[in-house]
Amino acid sequence: MHSDILDAVKQRNPNEPEFIQAAEEVIISVLPALDRHPEFRRLKILERMLEPERLISFRVTWLDDKGEVQINRGYRVQMNSAIGPYKGGIRFHPSVNVSVLKFLAFEQIFKNALTGIPMGGGKGGSDFDPKGKSENEIMKFCQAFMSELTRHIGHRLDVPAGDIGVGGREIGYMFGAYKKIKNEFTGVFTGKGIGWGGSLIRTEATGYGLIYFAENMLHTKGDSIKGKTCLVSGSGNVAQYAIEKINKLGGKVITASDSNGFIIDEAGITKDKLEFLKDLKNNRRGRIKEYAEKFKGVVYQEIDPKADHNPMWNIKADCAFPCATQNEINGKDAANLVKNGIKLVGEGANMPVTIEGINILIDNGIMYSPGKASNAGGVATSGLEMTQNYMGSNWTREEVDNKLQSIMKNIHDTCLAVANEYGKPGNYLVGANIAGFLKVANAMKAQGVI
Ligand code: NDP
Repeated sequence: MHSDILDAVKQRNPNEPEFIQAAEEVIISVLPALDRHPEFRRLKILERMLEPERLISFRVTWLDDKGEVQINRGYRVQMNSAIGPYKGGIRFHPSVNVSVLKFLAFEQIFKNALTGIPMGGGKGGSDFDPKGKSENEIMKFCQAFMSELTRHIGHRLDVPAGDIGVGGREIGYMFGAYKKIKNEFTGVFTGKGIGWGGSLIRTEATGYGLIYFAENMLHTKGDSIKGKTCLVSGSGNVAQYAIEKINKLGGKVITASDSNGFIIDEAGITKDKLEFLKDLKNNRRGRIKEYAEKFKGVVYQEIDPKADHNPMWNIKADCAFPCATQNEINGKDAANLVKNGIKLVGEGANMPVTIEGINILIDNGIMYSPGKASNAGGVATSGLEMTQNYMGSNWTREEVDNKLQSIMKNIHDTCLAVANEYGKPGNYLVGANIAGFLKVANAMKAQGVI
């Protein structure tokens, strides 16, 4: 479908393929909403959403353990604040650049709107690679990064969290640096430790939320996760808790991966094996290969990043949950999943399926959920952490988990209802994009041309 808005995005951002991809996916699905609301076209609401309100880029200089000067690039993309303070994670990975962060910040606008909690969209990060760095170097880098980022964020202005390469350890160092510079204790980060402002269930929330969402999808067909064989990619935060929840609901997970390769464990990644995986990745920071060395009957296969498909997606299973990174399922992978009889593909990562892949899944009637809907449990629970910080109190594990479950059900039901209303029954992508868009568009319209 042709769109003048998409043409303009391509022209204005010629070197930003990830951002153009994310923009294209949204623009094509919200065109019917623009037709119904000519005022949004006149006010150029979508065009405005596609331009960051503010894009901050800065130098991060630090001394490594050898005393050598290291230079990285730091960023914060403050994309949209129409419905609340900017909110979105920080990513530390060598692949981080303006295109990747703009795509993530753009997606975040719609995701945050879907949660029903007042949060705008933002994202940040650095091309710093935490792999192979000492504890001291990680702390030094986080402090150097915060010496600049501190002046751009605040608990009512912009509240970062974790993402790839940023977990509890990094958030601790960044929060500490912020507190030291500002001389105040506020909920400026989410994903904080329990005991210093963090919320129970935040660590688990993205993975748990993903599986709650998938369970809701399966329920619409009178089915459930119980007894299902599942493929999960990644072995970080999202993957670990997706595996935990699948196990809890009676499913079986037979794969996990990292950037080097993947394991196939036909017997399933059971509770004990998952504990090994968590220790391997979170404490020892080792490679997934060690899982195959530790447990009998497990196959390890390296991933060739230049290959035209990933053999992990060519394994027979009922459900697939990509939880590693963007563009990990291309058209060929999607075709392999379809060929092997996959029933459901739920995105845990952000934009893990290419546009070609999404079209193949949807055209073949596979239940497919976009990350902005099915991985929204993480930011939703961050929203709950912010609320607890404002109130100065803590909810129990059960209270937060119940709220997470009901938020995921609401997002699920909203996507379905809006997809129906726009003549695309069962299309979660259209439902998520239009529902998120309308909420933010109405706020922007009310706030005038700013
Ligand atoms: P982690 O850093 O905890 O884990 C990332 C996992 O993905 C690791 O196993 C990593 O392998 C693998 N990975 C990263 N980059 C690549 C790559 N280029 N190719 C192959 N594998 C890769 O991150 P999270 O689990 O937090 O995030 C995973 C995804 O989920 C991201 O897309 C993120 O944006 C999204 N997300 C995260 C949320 C959260 O709350 N954490 C919320 C919503 C979405 P290795 O160990 O080799 O680096």
